[in-house]
Amino acid sequence: MRRTGTNLPKVGQYNRAVVLDQIQLADGISRVEIAESTGLTPQTVSGIVRRLITEGIVREDGAAASSGGKPRTRLRVNADAGLAVGVHFDPFQLSCVVTDLLGRPLVKLQQPVVPGASPAEITATIAGLVEDMLATTGVARDRVLGLGLATPGPIDQALGALVGPPQLMGWTRVALKDMLVEATGLPVTLDNDATAAAIGECWAGAGRGVADFAYFFFGAGVGGGLILDNQVYRGGSMNAAEFGHQSVQPDGPECYCGNHGCLESLISPNALVAASGLGTYAALRQGVVDGDPMAVKVVEVAAAHLATAVVNVANILDIDLVVLGGHGLRHLETRFRDATARALATRPLARSIRTVRVEVSPLGADAAMVGAAALVLHTTYSPQVSDLLSL
Ligand SMILES: [Zn+2]
Repeated sequence: MRRTGTNLPKVGQYNRAVVLDQIQLADGISRVEIAESTGLTPQTVSGIVRRLITEGIVREDGAAASSGGKPRTRLRVNADAGLAVGVHFDPFQLSCVVTDLLGRPLVKLQQPVVPGASPAEITATIAGLVEDMLATTGVARDRVLGLGLATPGPIDQALGALVGPPQLMGWTRVALKDMLVEATGLPVTLDNDATAAAIGECWAGAGRGVADFAYFFFGAGVGGGLILDNQVYRGGSMNAAEFGHQSVQPDGPECYCGNHGCLESLISPNALVAASGLGTYAALRQGVVDGDPMAVKVVEVAAAHLATAVVNVANILDIDLVVLGGHGLRHLETRFRDATARALATRPLARSIRTVRVEVSPLGADAAMVGAAALVLHTTYSPQVSDLLSL
């Protein structure tokens, strides 16, 4: 993945993160290649690499074949030089992972969220899961570089707080970040679950190496994440890519956001269950698998609404790829993907120049958890690049 560095001296920490990202993402890369792909001078790259090697984070690994001339030494990350914890706080489930510096999971744990759990109870549960994971792996706490937390949005990054997520009644401006720092003793980075999932896709999923893509996240609602020009696009208040609140039916039902006919209010699990009369989401999904005409019809209508929203995003942002993911997509993937692919082949204005691809996430429901760990390890993904962890 290409990331552009800058040669201004005051952004040394940022350049360090950019260089480290290049080494982490490549399967062996030379100093010259890093300089070429980042735009940093060879001297800057050499200085950063020297420090990373001294600190044990990066190692030299033999020589790469080069087209004539002196062989170039490959650089690789020392996978064991540090670890990260990724936590995905979904209103129904907590999912946690410990990864090494290459993002390989060492252990995963999941626990259902007790309905109506308070912020203090959630904090204690996460801290307990972290303890259990460290005990299971025998990892010393001081080797953990930090904890990344993916939570339902919206999020106030300045306060490190959740701002009344619709699925969490009574959670009004909860400063979960500080609570977790206190409970775990780890540095904590907070991000929107859909953005974290997009980062997970970027790091280890369908978005690897793709400069511009949109991630549609299907959970209890419909969220999204955007990678534009190889960077996470967050927007002015850090809440960009709310794809679920596009109006795709102007005279549709009023959404809790105040808009009418929002994608989310038409295709969320609750909406599909209500439209199908099948009682539960599990029954609806089984109906789709069994080919029940009513269930299929409801999902086809939903897929058509999704396709409209995806075409809007493709027209506005000129992306290369759309990724569909999240646990809410289970058993509906094929119909949602096919309807979206048909729309992307026939409706965007720029379709004659190239067809926008659509893929179902290979990470599935793990994307947000993986992305949360990536927030710790890839500081250029972090919401606060100026507040870099001393990786
Ligand atoms: Zn809405």
